Amino acid sequence: MTVARILAEKGRSVVTIQPHRSIDEAIHLLAEKRIGAVVVAEADGVVLGILSERDIMRALAASGAAAFDAPVANHMTADVVTCQRSASVEELMQLMTDGRFRHVPVVEDGKLAGLISIGDVVKRRIAAVEAEHQAMRDYITMA
Ligand code: AMP
Repeated sequence: MTVARILAEKGRSVVTIQPHRSIDEAIHLLAEKRIGAVVVAEADGVVLGILSERDIMRALAASGAAAFDAPVANHMTADVVTCQRSASVEELMQLMTDGRFRHVPVVEDGKLAGLISIGDVVKRRIAAVEAEHQAMRDYITMA
């Protein structure tokens, strides 16, 4: 299963925020959309960073209530690991495990083209394992 196929199922839309917006605005966006991370990008779709609930936790631990007014740019991860549409679910699992993060933006021609979360990856992996088990059970029953 490739990233392209996952995006065909779940869609390519990604929730983004501009870097000058405040952490308070980011918190409200995450709550409203019921998501754990937001991609930081300008209107042209070029990825500048990613801000997850963990970054917000760290900002609050470091600066207390003052963190609410800080710009997203101050607390995002700027060095974002991205993938292409041709990447496999196994490659994404490796990226997430090695980097200890749960979100990977998909980039195509330098522009944001989707987002894969650990939930998307786990869902497809479980479906694949269950299909393999069913095929084995069918094979054994036929034998
Ligand atoms: P997460 O597990 O995705 O909530 O993120 C944990 C930490 O990794 C946070 O500091 C994020 O900013 C960072 N992070 C999340 N996704 C990525 C990514 N694709 N590349 C680099 N850092 C990331």
